[in-house]
Amino acid sequence: MKPVIALVGRPNVGKSTLFNRLTKTRDAIVADFAGLTRDRHYGDGRIGNQEFTVIDTGGFEPDSTTGIVKEMAKQTRQAVAEADAVVFVVDVRLGLSAQDSDIARYLRQASKRIFLCVNKAEGMSESPLLGEFFELGMGEPHPISASHGQGIRSLMEAVLEPF
Ligand code: GDP
Ligand code: MG
Repeated sequence: MKPVIALVGRPNVGKSTLFNRLTKTRDAIVADFAGLTRDRHYGDGRIGNQEFTVIDTGGFEPDSTTGIVKEMAKQTRQAVAEADAVVFVVDVRLGLSAQDSDIARYLRQASKRIFLCVNKAEGMSESPLLGEFFELGMGEPHPISASHGQGIRSLMEAVLEPF
């Protein structure tokens, strides 16, 4: 069985852009509007000889109780439940937010291997801006640029290491 990797994070951080990069498709809808990916979306990728399945999710607000946002949260919980590992995506340009902390709290109790991925970090692999993300208590942040294709192989080698 291929390992299953779920991409989780608040809207607009670049999850669908990363999904497209990993699966080399344009399947996921990338948008300037927060929360466009409203349900789960599966694709297959490969790094070296290791194949994997990746799940894109809509933006996640763990405590939402109504409408479309609630449905997105439910879909995200299901994706996390199905996953062997979670890539938790945050946005270095917007910085750390309360929503990121809420998601971190949710993920911690899900007992999955979690990789903190700091997106939109093109040209910033040594930036001090990465430091604040240690506060999430999710270990070392992996800087990437989903749109420029930087840092992705190194992130995925860590994610796929046990498989
Ligand atoms: P999602 O809501 O988390 O799925 O985010 P999207 O993948 O739809 O991306 C949201 C916005 O961020 C789009 O305008 C993307 O072009 C942009 N974006 C995604 N990845 C990067 C990146 O690595 N660098 C920069 N500068 N922008 C990015
Ligand atoms: Mg999306």
